[in-house]
Amino acid sequence: MSDCIIVGGGVIGLLTARQLFLEGVDVLLLEKGPLGGESSWAGGGIVSPLYPWRYDDAVNVLAERSKKIYPELTKALLEETGQDCEFINSGLFTVIDHGQDEILAWADNWSLAASYIDDIKTIHDIESAVGDVVDKGIWMPDIMQIRNPKLVKALKASFDHLSIPYRQQSPVEEIIVENNKVTGVRTRQQTYLADKVVIASGAWSAQFSATESCVDVLPVKGQMIMYKGEPDLVKRIVLSEGHYVIPRKDGRILAGSTLEKIGFDKSVSTDALDELHEAAVELVPLLNDLPVERQWAGLRPGTEKGIPYICQHDDVEGLYVHAGHFRNGIVLGAASAELMADIVTGRETRCDVTPYTMRAAH
Ligand SMILES: Cc1cc2nc3c(=O)[nH]c(=O)nc-3n(C[C@H](O)[C@H](O)[C@H](O)COP(=O)(O)OP(=O)(O)OC[C@H]3O[C@@H](n4cnc5c(N)ncnc54)[C@H](O)[C@@H]3O)c2cc1C
Repeated sequence: MSDCIIVGGGVIGLLTARQLFLEGVDVLLLEKGPLGGESSWAGGGIVSPLYPWRYDDAVNVLAERSKKIYPELTKALLEETGQDCEFINSGLFTVIDHGQDEILAWADNWSLAASYIDDIKTIHDIESAVGDVVDKGIWMPDIMQIRNPKLVKALKASFDHLSIPYRQQSPVEEIIVENNKVTGVRTRQQTYLADKVVIASGAWSAQFSATESCVDVLPVKGQMIMYKGEPDLVKRIVLSEGHYVIPRKDGRILAGSTLEKIGFDKSVSTDALDELHEAAVELVPLLNDLPVERQWAGLRPGTEKGIPYICQHDDVEGLYVHAGHFRNGIVLGAASAELMADIVTGRETRCDVTPYTMRAAH
C-alpha cells in the first residue's frame, strides 16, 4: 500500500511524484506507456507562456514561480543524474503590430524585462538570422528554454537514483472509490491500494469520469518540425502569429506548432509540414536551406483558458486532479507540482488555489 498513487508519468506526474517523495510521502507512479513519452516529450520547452499578457494571472503566477524553481531543479537533476536538461537563456522576440504600451505596462507590473523594438538594426543585433517580417515587436531577454525530452529523461534518471517507485506499461483502468472515498486503482495486471490518488494523465485526464463533477480536459494536437543546423546559427526564440522557432544548443532548430482539436490523433500531415515550414522560413529565411530532420505531434491537455486543475476532486475524498496545463505544462510544471504537494499533504497552500479548483473556469 502506498500513501499516494500518481496516474500518469508526463512532466506533471513526474514532478508531482518527485516533490511528494522528497517530502517523505510514500508514492507510486503508474504510467500507461514509457515515462514522458507523450506531450511532455513533444513540446517546445519555452519557459514562458506565448503572449503571456493574454493569460489569466492564475497562469502567470505559476509561470513566475516556476522560473525561480527551474535553476535549482535543473542543477539538482544534473548533480543527481549527470543529465543536462539544457536550461538555457535564449530570450524571446515576439512580433506584434499594436498594443505595445499595454504589453510593456503588463511586463512592468510583473517585473519582467521587456522592450518594444522597431528598428531593424537593433533587431538584427539581437538575432541576425531573422527575415523581413520580424520588423517590430517585444523583446524579452530573460526568457529561458529547457530541452523537454532531456528534462523527462533526467526526471526518470532521478527516479532511478532516488528509488522513487514507478511502473511503466501500466495503464490505470479504474480508480477505485468506496463511499465517495478513494481506496486505490486497478490496472489490467494488478490492484494497487492507496488513500490518495492524483490524476495527472494529461490529455487523457477526463477518462476517469465515474463521478458527477467532470474534469474538462481535451486533447489539442500540436505538430512540430525539426531542422538540422549548426550550433549558434540561430540564437533566439522568435514568435509571430502563433508560429515560433526555437534553436537548440546542438544546432537543431524546432518550428511549431499547429493547434488541432481532432481527438486522440497523433498522425502528422504534409499540410502541417508545409504550414510550419513556410512560417518558419518567413521568420528565419536560412531554414529554407536546412533539411527537416523530423516531424512529430503531441496531444496537449487542453482547457479553454489554459488554467490547469490543481485541486482536490469535488466529489471524492482522497482524489486529486493535476491536469489541463495546455500549452504551458513545462513552464507551469515546477510550480504546479509544488502547489499540488501543498494540497495533497494538507498544509497551507502558498497561493490562492481558487482558480485551479474544479468549480472555477478553466
Ligand atoms: C507541440 C507542442 C509544443 C509545446 N510547447 C510547450 C512549450 O514551449 N512550453 C510549455 O511550457 N509547454 C509546451 N507544451 C505543452 C506541454 O508539453 C504540456 O502542457 C505538458 O507536457 C503536459 O504534461 P502532462 O504530464 O500533463 O501530460 P503528458 O506529458 O501527456 O503526460 C500524461 C501521461 O499520462 C499517461 N496516461 C494517460 N492515461 C493513463 C492511464 N490510464 N494510466 C496511466 N497513465 C496514463 C500518458 O501516457 C502520459 O504519459 C507543448 C506541447 C506540444 C504538443
